[in-house]
Amino acid sequence: MIRSVRRSLTALVSTLAVPAVAAYSAAQAPAPAAPTTVIRAARMVDPKSGNVMQNPVVVVQAGRITSVGANAAIPAGAKVIDLGNLTLLPGLIDAHTHLLQNYRGELGGDDPNMILTVTTMSTAKRALLGAKMGREDLEAGITTVRDLGNSGFGGDVALRDAINAGWVVGPRIRAATRALAAAGGQFGTVQPETQKIIEQEYAVVSTPDEARRAVRQAFYDGADLIKVIVNTGPRVVSLDEMKAIVEEAHRVGRTVAAHAIGDTATRIAAEAGVTSIEHAYTVPDEVLRMMAQKGIYLVPTDYPAEFYVDAFASSSLTPEQKRQQLEGAKGFAQSSAARLMRAVRAGVKVAFGSDEYYDTPGRTRGQASLLTLQAYQEAGMSPLEVLRAATVNSATLLGWGERIGSIEAGKLADIIAVDGDPLKDVKDLQHVRFVMKGGEVIKGAAVKE
Ligand SMILES: [Zn+2]
Repeated sequence: MIRSVRRSLTALVSTLAVPAVAAYSAAQAPAPAAPTTVIRAARMVDPKSGNVMQNPVVVVQAGRITSVGANAAIPAGAKVIDLGNLTLLPGLIDAHTHLLQNYRGELGGDDPNMILTVTTMSTAKRALLGAKMGREDLEAGITTVRDLGNSGFGGDVALRDAINAGWVVGPRIRAATRALAAAGGQFGTVQPETQKIIEQEYAVVSTPDEARRAVRQAFYDGADLIKVIVNTGPRVVSLDEMKAIVEEAHRVGRTVAAHAIGDTATRIAAEAGVTSIEHAYTVPDEVLRMMAQKGIYLVPTDYPAEFYVDAFASSSLTPEQKRQQLEGAKGFAQSSAARLMRAVRAGVKVAFGSDEYYDTPGRTRGQASLLTLQAYQEAGMSPLEVLRAATVNSATLLGWGERIGSIEAGKLADIIAVDGDPLKDVKDLQHVRFVMKGGEVIKGAAVKE
């Protein structure tokens, strides 16, 4: 009652008073210039050119970078963030995240975890989990992510919008909503009576028409891009269906990320002309050549061998079982490394994607995700190539090449700082000391007024 009276009064006041006030402000008192922040540090790496600037001065206003220069003059009245001996870099971009799930290794892999997550967690609860995971990414230096499904019904869109509205602190998000997939999505065995849970995570398509319908529905649901699971075991989305998906997305200027592993699925994805192929742990040279020729990105979701063992450590294993587990992980990491270098040699563009979705004891989500960069370096990519994968390349893949991915005038002020020299060893990125997103300091700064 009281509230409704107040609402009517507010409405009355708005209609009468606000236009007059607004007109007055516009004519008489131009808005004061936004406060200026300046970041200084010992050096700045530009992943695009590979150049290092000494004593950079980065000027930030209203969330954007307005100028960058070595030893440049500091504008009067600016707030100065002096980062001393640190090195500046653009904020990192993870092109393959799943912020709304956090699986537990001890449950025995993806199948039981997925069923437990979907049947016991509401989408609302998962969005709140996503807020925690997103914050951990941001604090580790990941200022933008492309979140690729497994988010319930619209949970990723809700998180993206909440972050944009300033309700919670997290990275910029490009959201995929439910992934399109063949029968069953990525679920293991689920009995017929309970298969309805599959719709929570996947839009199952069985014909090109269903594929078109699912793409349009995803955009209606708020998707920025489309994610397709091309294959899960013997269930494969056909080439005709993939072509329909790509055509529908491209018609409205959107992109398609394709999960594909093995000869058949990677070939279908590349022939259909997707924007990126995720994982591709096995992929023939012929498909890599097609990817290079069509400009299709590879998002290699790789980890150092030791990580697989840490993440799935179980105290119940005998020493011999542990040894076998490490051997298996080493073999997998080596084969992933070999295919990454085949892709690089074939001229395929690489973008950083962690595909991290397990709880990792001793590491935050962001810290665990950055181990992927270490895996690229251990595979044989130069630190500069790795930095490009995690900045300019990911930015372009996300369709945000003009907004993020480098520290340049006009771009959003997404800036991180680290000790050491990441051009010598990207492991230095695992201890980010300072994070700014859109001009807002998220982590660590010695501020001099
Ligand atoms: Zn994934």
